[in-house]
Amino acid sequence: MQKLSDLLESFRVYAVCVPCGRMEALDLARAAARLGEGATVADLRARVRCGACRAFTRDVRVVYVGPEDRRADFRYRR
Ligand SMILES: [Zn+2]
Repeated sequence: MQKLSDLLESFRVYAVCVPCGRMEALDLARAAARLGEGATVADLRARVRCGACRAFTRDVRVVYVGPEDRRADFRYRR
């Protein structure tokens, strides 16, 4: 299982809320700080909550964006 600290450099994690159709980028650095050094994507998924309807969405999408200095130009399309 991937640790959040391993994702910081090259990945973005989005929370997905199916009822609202919302997708929101999560602040990985903050999540890692709050959940602790060894926190995994599964830990994050268990906690993530929709900013609009406050539902626990239990769904996250991990997207590779590349290292900070060479971001892939990623756009999510519905
Ligand atoms: Zn929602």
